[in-house]
Amino acid sequence: MEQIFGECHAHLFMDGIDYRAAKARHFAGVDEENLRLQLREYQKRGITFVRDGGDACNVSRRAKELAEEYGIDYRSPIFAIHLEHRYGSIVGFPFSNMKEYHARVLQAKKAGADFIKIMTTGILDFHHFGVITGTPLREETVREMVHIAHEEGFAVMSHTNGIQGVQAALAAGVDSLEHGNYMDDETIRMLSRSGTVWVPTVSTVYNLLGDGRFPEEEVQKIAAHVAANVRRAYELGACVAPGSDAGAYRVLHGQGIMDEVETIAGILGDRPETERWLKAGENRIQERFKRRG
Ligand SMILES: [Zn+2]
Repeated sequence: MEQIFGECHAHLFMDGIDYRAAKARHFAGVDEENLRLQLREYQKRGITFVRDGGDACNVSRRAKELAEEYGIDYRSPIFAIHLEHRYGSIVGFPFSNMKEYHARVLQAKKAGADFIKIMTTGILDFHHFGVITGTPLREETVREMVHIAHEEGFAVMSHTNGIQGVQAALAAGVDSLEHGNYMDDETIRMLSRSGTVWVPTVSTVYNLLGDGRFPEEEVQKIAAHVAANVRRAYELGACVAPGSDAGAYRVLHGQGIMDEVETIAGILGDRPETERWLKAGENRIQERFKRRG
């Protein structure tokens, strides 16, 4: 790949090593020295676009203020929004009914959010191929969440995994689908017919290969599935953007987007077509995930 890509999914509050330690670091107030260290990782690689996925300790909010110093066009949801007792407290704040959800959207707006980040399912269980943690949100709930965010003038970034979860998110009209693991063929077809951009965050899986934290065989199966789906999405002309989930375990800031693009090039072939396809996805993220008015 000749071009430099923007990072379409990062969490500046984490460092790719230990999220508990990272959270503790910023708990009593943003550790600005550490944050600047991470921003420099983008700057020194010439990466000028970063879209954050949010956090619950104001790191993303502060990063938005500092980013210009590093020549970075930085977009932030400030925090992510999740249904109480479901996955998401690591990156944001909960709601228990739609009135509270709407209040969270307005809270994000007031805090300077460029878009809204929602959590609609759990995450991969790396110990067991095919398994997603937790219960996905109901389709009606997701539809209402997306509707409210759109009504408030925001694009929606949706953390979602699994067939049921992805179909609900696509039907609701999310602007970007994050992770989207374990889609089947029907779901990828639905994606390709939608206006949704898929950010597969393949680095969160591929960077675990050979790591030893999880059973290698399971990680290999998950990686093979991700690769097959990226290939299928390409064949069907779905819109896909590169975002590594930098900050997640083994995915480093700056390096993460390099890993992501390299891995996708490894799957599809390091060809100008692959590069153009990913750039088109990134451009759509840049155009859409912008605060209006
Ligand atoms: Zn994320």
